[in-house]
Amino acid sequence: MQPYSSARTEFKQEADIYLDANESPFMNGVNRYPDPCQLKLKQKLSGIKNLPMEQILLGNGSDEIIDLVFRAFGCPGKDSVLITPPTYGMYRVLAQLNDLSCIEIPLLPGFSLDMQEIYAVSNQAKIVMLCSPNNPSGNKLRNEDIEQIARRSPGIVFIDEAYIDFSEQESWIRRLDIFPNLVVCQTLSKAWGMAGLRLGMCFASAEIIRVLNKIKPPYNIGKQTQEKALELLDDMQGFKKRLLYLRMEKQRLAEQLKVLPEVLSVYASDANFLLVRFTDSRKVYNYLTASGIVTRNHSSQHLCTNCLRITIGLKSENDRLINALEKIKL
Ligand SMILES: *Cc1c(COP(=O)(O)O)cnc(C)c1O
Repeated sequence: MQPYSSARTEFKQEADIYLDANESPFMNGVNRYPDPCQLKLKQKLSGIKNLPMEQILLGNGSDEIIDLVFRAFGCPGKDSVLITPPTYGMYRVLAQLNDLSCIEIPLLPGFSLDMQEIYAVSNQAKIVMLCSPNNPSGNKLRNEDIEQIARRSPGIVFIDEAYIDFSEQESWIRRLDIFPNLVVCQTLSKAWGMAGLRLGMCFASAEIIRVLNKIKPPYNIGKQTQEKALELLDDMQGFKKRLLYLRMEKQRLAEQLKVLPEVLSVYASDANFLLVRFTDSRKVYNYLTASGIVTRNHSSQHLCTNCLRITIGLKSENDRLINALEKIKL
């Protein structure tokens, strides 16, 4: 396929006068098209992630990246995507949107991968979607399991690492050279605190990135988004400080939740949220909502009966949550 060639991909140098892209000549800060290759931002990320720029692709959120991978590697009406519920809901939505069928291999109790079942069907799946740390369960998947899947799968193995910064686990981007079928996705939405910008990062072999670059919308990341991300990525010290803060708050919250009578279990979490099983999640959810605190009810999902997913907030916010739960009468 011949990709669209934009004005800014054909002429990359600096000029005095730009009459090539039918832009407005009246300056207002955003009258020019943004850099379609996001070079400065990729340079910055290349340094932070210690990976060549040729192995990085940026998307308008992770959702655009997942969609690009599905479109690049999945043949509509023919191919399948393997997913492991309970997991991020967008995988199924984007598979359906691209007319790819979903092979569902539910996680086992303890939220681990059902390796036997995955082996049995992995030949049929064009793309295997793994989420580690997993949303909504919060646990990381076992490295040995992911490695086995990457070795055996004939297609793409996609690892969604949206929460990797909260985890002690080493990112799979360090092993891209060993597994050429690996695609790793991270985001600036969570630990980096830029959910409003919409910036997802895709890391893979240079060969896979070349393919995705061909099909991405040319100007998929806006100018102000690129500039704001560059500015915020400079604050590595603040980033680490906030990670530590959230880790300590998560531990504190988990301990305070565990002793409440309406709490049955607090699952171990490698992310910035806790999955909590209550005696009656619907009542707790409604009670909290009435107290002005909104959580996410995941009760209808596999292995998540009576579970709420609670994001770690500021200390004062977590205190209010605990105060509310201490007063609850079920
Ligand atoms: C939050 C989240 C994302 C991030 O999505 P963006 O579109 O980058 O904001 C990706 N995957 C999972 C599993 C998530 O929970």
